[in-house]
Amino acid sequence: MTAERSEQLFKRAVECIPGGVNSPVRAYGAIGIAPRFIAKTAGSHICDVDGNTYIDYIDSWGPCILGHNDERIRDAVIEASGRGLSFGCATEIEVEMAEFICRHIPSIEMIRMVNSGTEAVMSALRAARGFTGRQKVIKFAGCYHGHSDAMLVSAGSGVMSSGVPDSAGVTPGCTRDTMTAVYNDLKSVEQLLEENPGQVAAVIVEPVGANMGVVLPDRDFLPGLRSLCDKHQTLLIFDEVITGFRLGFTGAQGYYGVTPDLTTYGKIIGAGMPVGAYGGRRDVMEMVAPAGPVYQAGTLSGNPIAMAAGLTQLKILQSEPEIYQKLADMGERLYGQMKDHIREHQIPCQVNHIQSLGCLFFTAEPVTDYASAKTADTAQYAKYFKHMLKSGIHLAPAQFEAMFLSAAHTEEDLQATCEAIKMFFKE
Ligand SMILES: *Cc1c(COP(=O)(O)O)cnc(C)c1O
Repeated sequence: MTAERSEQLFKRAVECIPGGVNSPVRAYGAIGIAPRFIAKTAGSHICDVDGNTYIDYIDSWGPCILGHNDERIRDAVIEASGRGLSFGCATEIEVEMAEFICRHIPSIEMIRMVNSGTEAVMSALRAARGFTGRQKVIKFAGCYHGHSDAMLVSAGSGVMSSGVPDSAGVTPGCTRDTMTAVYNDLKSVEQLLEENPGQVAAVIVEPVGANMGVVLPDRDFLPGLRSLCDKHQTLLIFDEVITGFRLGFTGAQGYYGVTPDLTTYGKIIGAGMPVGAYGGRRDVMEMVAPAGPVYQAGTLSGNPIAMAAGLTQLKILQSEPEIYQKLADMGERLYGQMKDHIREHQIPCQVNHIQSLGCLFFTAEPVTDYASAKTADTAQYAKYFKHMLKSGIHLAPAQFEAMFLSAAHTEEDLQATCEAIKMFFKE
């Protein structure tokens, strides 16, 4: 298995692209080898520029839930592109997309398309602030909401530490109104709400944490957030950029039966094209321009090619519920086998999983929040990643990311993956 062409490309890339990549995790920085440059994909497999083929568990970080390069989506894109790539004007397919989502997701009464999850979150927060007339927001340590300034707050610091930027170039002014609570700790949220009466516009949460590895909400966590938000007239925003249309068509809100005021989408909603969306209560969404005073715009928002891809994927997911059954069954088999193996051989690891999402943590401690996730041994993960890559399996190149199963994964894929994992722990 050679990586010559990938290595050459990476050398060229670092000369002209910061870090050689257009999004940081792609650089394999936590692994210490040159990233594999991907030439083509199909189904559950991706193929790099050196001709190596891997079973892929990134699925473009979730969008490709039907598998890579699904023919139906590709055909929809080809068909739409025959009519033009972008109009910068209103189109019929945008209405269809909005109607389709409003019809099938009970909490969504109105929705606005944007171009990424980052934009969706940024805009949802602005709408929440515009609606409530309040300035502060509460997020959770370890939850990722895209790279907008206000959301890049020191994810590791505790309840009380508000407003410490996580990234150079983010001013304290930008994050002054962002407060950080502890995932699965309702008390930490209650405390912030009580210390800032009438000032918190929104609580934003990943209903399943999927950016600190996979961290599941305790049974009371999401309902508890709902009642705390109701009590303080604060809006509850579910960031379903990963979980939306993945934990079943209605996402985490359907799965857990908790209704947010606003929801943000990305990833699956674009089927691999750059799409995000935010929506929810009509009274809040009517604040958005040009209906209301909250400004938000986008030259390419609702792009016809992106809408064709996204709507095609959503229609397939909605009309073929057996896809979610298959994903859940495969998740049970793959993550279940990983768990059994770890238990049987008393390996100090954790497997957190829900349906198609899963994560192997290299720590002896149960992972329930950011602090426990951080106990994972990232050097051990790097070894594991390299072993798996050599075995023809492409995982996320960092410990704190999820594995994504797609409908295109096969029983043979899962078996090969389990075998490779067992070999790793034997070595
Ligand atoms: C990926 C992600 C985002 C950001 O989406 P982009 O399209 O990368 O801007 C926001 N929130 C969550 C939960 C995500 O997983």
